[in-house]
Parts: sequence; C-alpha cells; structure tokens
Amino acid sequence: MKDEETFGSVLFNYRRPNLTEFMDFFVQFRQQLNRLEPSDIVPILSFRQSILDQVAQLVPHCDELEVPYFHRLVFLEPGEFEDEDLQAAAERGHGAVLQAIWTEYGKPKLYLLARTAWDTYGRQTVAHWIKLAQKVLDSLYGDHWPNTIFETPNDCAICLQTMHWAEKTVCGHVFHLHCLLRHMNTNNTCPICRHRRPLLYDAAADSDDSDSEEDDSDSDYSVEMEFGNLDEAEEAEEEYE
Ligand SMILES: [Zn+2]
Ligand SMILES: [Zn+2]
Repeated sequence: MKDEETFGSVLFNYRRPNLTEFMDFFVQFRQQLNRLEPSDIVPILSFRQSILDQVAQLVPHCDELEVPYFHRLVFLEPGEFEDEDLQAAAERGHGAVLQAIWTEYGKPKLYLLARTAWDTYGRQTVAHWIKLAQKVLDSLYGDHWPNTIFETPNDCAICLQTMHWAEKTVCGHVFHLHCLLRHMNTNNTCPICRHRRPLLYDAAADSDDSDSEEDDSDSDYSVEMEFGNLDEAEEAEEEYE
C-alpha cells in the first residue's frame, strides 16, 4: 500500500533534534489518521480554499501542487482510472473508491507534508495535522452525492463496464452519458426498450438523417395537435395550395 511505503520513507533519515518527539508525532499521527472517519455532517461547499488556508498555516512556503486535493479523481468512472488499485476499488462501488483515494493519495500526501513541516519549521502538533486531515477526508465526501452512487454499481448496458455516474433516460434506463450519446448518433432510441428520443433535452439538437422518419412523424403529430385531426390538416394544406 502506498500509504505504508510513504509512511516508512518519511520516517527515514531524520537528523534534526527532537528525534523522539518526531517519532512520537508520526506514530500518533498515523494511528489517528487510520481511525479517521468522514464527519457525520459534511457541508456542501468547496473545500479547496479552507484546505489551502490550513496548509498555509502549517507549511507557509508550500507549493499549491503539494496540497492534497482530489476533486477530479472523485468523478472518474472505473474504466478511466489509470491506477490499478483504484480501478479494483471502483468495481466494489463509489465508497470503496473514496477510501482508496484517501489511502493511496490522501494519507501519503499528508505524511510528506508533515515531514516537510518538521524539516523546515521543527516541532509539530498532531492535533493541528488531524484537523487538516479531517478536512481532506471530508472533501472527498463533500459533494452532494445521489444515494445510488454508494450502492453496488450498475454495469452500462452499452459498454458493459462498471458505471458510477449513470444517466437516466426518460424511459427509466441507465447508461454512461457518453455511451448513450455515441449510440444516439446513429439511432435516437433507447438501446434497451427502443423508446424514441431517450434524452428529452436532445430533441431539439438531433438532425441526423437516420432520424428523418421520426422527424416526419413528429411534424405530423404537431400538425394534428394544431388542427385537431389529420383530415382537417390535409384539408387545410389543400386550401393553402
Ligand atoms: Zn458505458
Ligand atoms: Zn429505455
């Protein structure tokens, strides 16, 4: 596991005073980090700034790139993770992904930052670092997730891969949005039940040749609405001619 490797490496080669305190700090920090749970109530807000502020207090010279923040990772689909551990976690569900991001990226970054702080500014307080760690962990859970995200993930019926971010059609079927859009390029029906125009909001945008039949029938329908029935509509067209 990456967090164990990193933990080992940050303890290595410390030649400053306070060695005992240094070791104590990291042992306690690790124990408390491993017990950390996301807060019961996580506010729905951007954590980026408050994490940056807190890091700036602990490690004033810190480069922004070293600040733990994983917003982009949180929204990937399993197939998009380049990391094998994350991909395996993703098969088990979104909660497992968040835990894996925390273990593989969150904790190691915190260990490295804390080591930098010891090297540069000397003695550190575990409580301050745990406060930062809680924010970093909460930031993974800080968005307003739909409940379905944490259930056993569906497979997309089009690409057959695990799907965390499902797009629901008007007929109630779910697919990856990009898979459904690719399918709709050639056929504007639901791949499962053939419901026409499975994404309502796409109705105005489609101009494919393959949809021309549907377009015709739709325009008939609107004529019918306008004139009450088709016969009247035809009469109206004849009169017009
Ligand atoms: Zn798909
Ligand atoms: Zn359908």
